[in-house]
Amino acid sequence: MANSLDKFLSSSLSDLKSKGLLNSIDTLQKPNGPIIEVNGKDLINLASNNYLGFADKAELIAACVDATEKWGVGAGAVRPINGTLSIHDQLEKKIAEFKGTEDALAYQSGFNANMGSISAVMDKNDAILSDELNHASIIDGCRLSGAKIIRVKHRDMADLEQKASEAVASGLYNKIMYISDGVFSMDGDVQDLPSVVKIAEKYDLITYIDDAHGSGVMGKGKGTVKSFGLQDKIDFQMGTLSKAVGVVGGYVAGKKQLIDWLKARSRPFLFSTSLTPGSAAAVIEALDEIMNHPEYVEQLWDNAAYFKKKLSGLGFNIGKSETPISPVIIGDENKTQQFSQLLLEKGVYAKPIVYPTVPLGTGRIRNMPIRTHTKEMLDKAIDIYAEVGKELNYL
Ligand code: PMP
Repeated sequence: MANSLDKFLSSSLSDLKSKGLLNSIDTLQKPNGPIIEVNGKDLINLASNNYLGFADKAELIAACVDATEKWGVGAGAVRPINGTLSIHDQLEKKIAEFKGTEDALAYQSGFNANMGSISAVMDKNDAILSDELNHASIIDGCRLSGAKIIRVKHRDMADLEQKASEAVASGLYNKIMYISDGVFSMDGDVQDLPSVVKIAEKYDLITYIDDAHGSGVMGKGKGTVKSFGLQDKIDFQMGTLSKAVGVVGGYVAGKKQLIDWLKARSRPFLFSTSLTPGSAAAVIEALDEIMNHPEYVEQLWDNAAYFKKKLSGLGFNIGKSETPISPVIIGDENKTQQFSQLLLEKGVYAKPIVYPTVPLGTGRIRNMPIRTHTKEMLDKAIDIYAEVGKELNYL
């Protein structure tokens, strides 16, 4: 007999299926590098966040294996019980060095970092001014905090100033935070942090920047905040260790007092087992590699510039990206799906991004050129783009 859960699941799943919203998930048979294998076929991979090609880099693997042999596969407990190993302390010192802050706290993921740190500091007597295109984990962290959420038009500083001044004038809130991605993942545009800081200083806003797509990419790898020289002006420098850094985990970097508070109150830190020793060691190695090898970040930007120039040279609309994220904006949702399907058939793996992730009528293929693509791979991808563009009468 079907119980209420069975009924809920079968009707919800068939509803998603009928609306075309039940995505199939591909399984990779090789590491997530410049070429991937899906269903037995090698494809040029333009879909991963592995910006620097670190996900299967030999030095990171060696660091992970060494630490695993030394410490074992698991940390054994949550951090405040006895799951803080010296490798976690080393990791946090390294993150603070990387971000130019007094201290840092590592989380098990970027998602956890947002959920756990926003809600540790903000509560129902506070307000959060949030860019309308912020990542889901920011939105969930804001909701969890119970603070009043005030949406700010994307990168619109006049709207931010007006809403900040209204929130202050209302006298309703103890604290007000402004929160935003540093780099926006669907368009590749960058938040106007110098203007944010001016407004934040004027209205005493707490500043929180999620630099998941900026760390390892912007500011010679040190991130978007660093690219503007604003390390002392942003209260929370949040990031992930799973994209350019290539491993897994997340962090908040900032003043020591902030980190002390998060250690006392942030629930994923208090109640979820810490990162594995192998992951912590691989991240330390990755951050050293970014700091000691500026050429890695340069190679990424060189590949991105090469790829974008060729795409726009063909006549594609690549939007207003200021970073390696290289969207090809198709518009119509069905055409976007069809475009990506044809790319796949011809050997390019690039994901279609459609409503509700982006506004209706702005469907796009999101391309992520990475450091380890060769120019030959990128040229081949461009040839395939040209073929598909012509086939679909897009060019
Ligand atoms: N913030 C942003 C802006 C992201 O793009 C992501 C990753 N999708 C996250 C947070 C979550 O990071 P993680 O994958 O490490 O949980």
